[in-house]
Amino acid sequence: MRIQITMLVLLLSASIHTSWADSNEVNLYSARKEALIKPLLEEFTTETGIKVNLVTGKASALLKRLVTEGRNSPADLFITVDAGNLYRAREAGVLQPVSSQQLNAVIPANLRDADGYWFGLSQRARPIFYVKGKVDPKQLSTYEALADSQWKGRICIRSSSNIYNQSLVASMIAAIGEEKTEAWATAFVANFARPPKGGDKDQIKAAAAGLCDLAIANTYYFGNMLTGKDQSLKKAADAVAVFWPNQDDRGTHINVSGVGMTSAAKNSDNAIKLMEYLVSEKAQQWYAEVNSEYPVREGVPASKTLQSWGEFKSDAVELSKLGELNADAVKLMDRAGWK
Ligand code: FE
Repeated sequence: MRIQITMLVLLLSASIHTSWADSNEVNLYSARKEALIKPLLEEFTTETGIKVNLVTGKASALLKRLVTEGRNSPADLFITVDAGNLYRAREAGVLQPVSSQQLNAVIPANLRDADGYWFGLSQRARPIFYVKGKVDPKQLSTYEALADSQWKGRICIRSSSNIYNQSLVASMIAAIGEEKTEAWATAFVANFARPPKGGDKDQIKAAAAGLCDLAIANTYYFGNMLTGKDQSLKKAADAVAVFWPNQDDRGTHINVSGVGMTSAAKNSDNAIKLMEYLVSEKAQQWYAEVNSEYPVREGVPASKTLQSWGEFKSDAVELSKLGELNADAVKLMDRAGWK
């Protein structure tokens, strides 16, 4: 009898232990829209049997939530866009380092945090868009040259509160220093066609509508306008073309969407499995294509639409540097009068 009880206790504790350690779930907070990630997560579940619980929200709201929840957060992973936001998450203490040979081998070093706090999953560039027929691309060369007075009243770009612009300016500080970047920003702002308003798509729409001749926007907005169902957006996108700036020096500014493991992660093995799945060839192709982005994994082709804009040299600056320089960039833009 006594032996039987001991056996029972052993069996019970073994089964409790198993179910605890093998929790077949992973919890993901994502600042990306559900449609951009859900089918991929379902595929991951089919392949691994690991269930993914997805919470979506705005980047800043999710970060705030992670900070508030602290150690009690149910989240294992955090997906957000822009190295500036990923850096903020690391600084806020809500991420922990991950060491994965696979992630390090597949993702170029400049597109991930050197200490493993976050990893790029897709790339986007922030080039210049010019109105076809109004601007000869031969007139264009670099971001720096947009400060030239020939562009007075001809440039549309969104506000300085936007992280994409902050990262662009941070990349210029990294390349040419703060002093030159501030002089550039002051002259650049003087060339704006209107006080900044709207998002990236609105800049392309404004250019197409004749309000300006140049617009700055992320490539996926342009790609989604071209391939989406909205005919008026497609028409606006058809009126402009991509110009890749700084091809003779550092390259065009790029950024990433990325993922990091939370400090509170309880399902860390599953979390790493999901991170590794997201950089698999199949996942890379789908994840990049569904939002007109470029894969981070070499050898995975971009969509036909993106390929039609031609190859370009991208700025190889370590993206974490843009996070480090974010506060300087914000102050600089403010001094330059960039609303
Ligand atoms: Fe965006």
